[in-house]
Amino acid sequence: MEETESARRRACMVERQLAGRGVEDARVLAAMGAVPREAFVPADMREFAYDDTPLPIGEGQTISQPYIVALMAAAARLDPRDRVLEIGTGSGYAAAVLAGLAARVETVELRPELAARARENLRAYPNVDVHVGDGTLGWPQGAPYDAILAAAGGPEVPPALVGQLAPGGRLIMPVGASRERQRLLRMVRGDHGRLAREDLGPVRFVPLVGEQGWDDTRAASKHAATPRAESLSARMGRRAEAFAGLDEAAARGLFDRWGDRRVVLLGEASHGTSEFYQARAAITRRLIEHHGFNIVAVEADWPDAAAVDRHVRHLPHLAVAMPAFQRFPRWMWRNTDVAAFVEWLRAHNEGRAMSRRTGFFGLDLYSLSDSIGAVLAYLDRVDPEAAGVARERYGCLTPWQKDPAVYGRAVLTDGYRGCEQQVVAQLKDLLARRMEYAQGQDGAFLDAAQNARLVAAAERYYRAMYYGTAESWNLRDTHMYETLAHLLEAHGPTARAVVWAHNSHIGDAAATEMGQSRGELNIGQLCREHLGEAAALVGMDTHTGTVAAAHDWGGRMEIMEVRPSREDSVERLAHECGIPRFLLDFQAPGGEALAQELRQPRLERYIGVIYRPGTELMSHYADASLSRQFDAWLWLDTTRAVQPLAGGPGAGAPETYPFGV
Ligand code: SAH
Repeated sequence: MEETESARRRACMVERQLAGRGVEDARVLAAMGAVPREAFVPADMREFAYDDTPLPIGEGQTISQPYIVALMAAAARLDPRDRVLEIGTGSGYAAAVLAGLAARVETVELRPELAARARENLRAYPNVDVHVGDGTLGWPQGAPYDAILAAAGGPEVPPALVGQLAPGGRLIMPVGASRERQRLLRMVRGDHGRLAREDLGPVRFVPLVGEQGWDDTRAASKHAATPRAESLSARMGRRAEAFAGLDEAAARGLFDRWGDRRVVLLGEASHGTSEFYQARAAITRRLIEHHGFNIVAVEADWPDAAAVDRHVRHLPHLAVAMPAFQRFPRWMWRNTDVAAFVEWLRAHNEGRAMSRRTGFFGLDLYSLSDSIGAVLAYLDRVDPEAAGVARERYGCLTPWQKDPAVYGRAVLTDGYRGCEQQVVAQLKDLLARRMEYAQGQDGAFLDAAQNARLVAAAERYYRAMYYGTAESWNLRDTHMYETLAHLLEAHGPTARAVVWAHNSHIGDAAATEMGQSRGELNIGQLCREHLGEAAALVGMDTHTGTVAAAHDWGGRMEIMEVRPSREDSVERLAHECGIPRFLLDFQAPGGEALAQELRQPRLERYIGVIYRPGTELMSHYADASLSRQFDAWLWLDTTRAVQPLAGGPGAGAPETYPFGV
């Protein structure tokens, strides 16, 4: 990485990931801005050096996420004269930052290989000494220390460390009963050796193994649900509005509370769960029949949805070059639940005046899956290795994805760089052709200016998409919002829309890790900003069951078991209510106290068209403040995979979907 480029990315990291998250200490920000992180990560990982994530450094260990290093350094309240002990040198990155803030840094690493590499990395930092040893015993030779920072999590604070702390000294350490999740604690040594203890919040560190830490034979102790969590679950249960079946719930008016909204957005925690589609269908039917909703807008390509729209509104069936929903992930819209809803909508519209028929529209950027397919096909031909990398990358096109191991495998090859220009040219061509086609059929709605803007943005978009940055996500969700706004406008002042999309598009991004850490926004957030109370954001979630998904982009659809939700997740709180199906309305009167408690960030699960149970925590969980993210939340404890429609390309009648079903 060129020096100026490195400095630019570092400044951006300091601004967005650190200052943006509330790190205020100017000395810490300056120290973080001065250390080139790329010098501490393996060569094949350099391009990710300023990503908001830990990265693998070998031996199963990681270089800490920049924010965590800054958070700990700030918590240690360092003075330029201080002597500091760090436990867990790893790459040496945090030690380099500490070196800029204190007089001396002793750092202890258990694994000799890592210590040797860190020593190399730290050549330019004369006030740091790297030692090999068991850091749970501290480094008595250098004691006492004004600050001790542990970069690995233990079951409790090792007494040796407390003993090596100077009066007034600060000990910052992740402590927790589980090996993978801890609370970050700050202990300050007061008079007479007394320790004041403060909780700085939840964190995830690698385990501290050693004499006064975890040992490798000791099984991870079960993280028992705390009494507080249990009672929160019970309180959730008391506020929950239970229902037996979705149709029964709709019939008795459970969802009528959203009848006067302009837009009702219905989320889902996976793209392959039958009950989520059934629930959205039941709510949507009610809103159409009893409350005059006349637009159904879904997370699908415009041209695909347009074919369904012609079917449900009894418009002439056009001869199309490409039948609808033929590409990966086919099961997302070609499944029995969607087909049943489409047939219902067609029957509902029959005999009504054209202006009173409810339409079915796609909000997504055109050809998202088409263009991914085109890139893969092209790379398969010219550079199969780059194609493998691209498959990994596309599998990660989700705002919650943050598995460093996947990053590790998905290192950019020169092969892709070499053909990037051709790929982009091909994609622009493809996009232009599809737009021409859409223009011919839906010209009234899709004005030329919007198309031109999209084609112009395409290059930036595809590049951003491949490199997996927030920009591509934001472009996509802004486009979805603008299409929705356009639809509402085109249908006049009485138009009301129901939106079907994933929870990650619908739940207010500002209330989740996506928005707070990575600057990602979404359609739910934009609806709130523009429509206020006239928008209802409804999430859906589940504990366990089965789901239809693939392991990689373009991969085979499989029916997979959904692992029971994690003990520390918001799903587990809901599961422990013991109520199989319920609605939790955060806007209902009397629910303020519970809503307040559910503002605290907790892990929430996101499954897209890709599900990787093997790396579930890293690949599918992210922190969210449930009651800020959604206005209401629908719980379906056990759920089943969707059933794809029979037949595939070349299999006859179903290819003409929706007309052939
Ligand atoms: N601060 C590091 C992150 C290190 S990850 C960085 O910025 O790169 C935690 C490190 O703690 C790992 O390298 C692991 O090997 C080390 N570790 C685990 N147990 C330890 C112990 N008892 N003593 C010293 N180091 C330990």
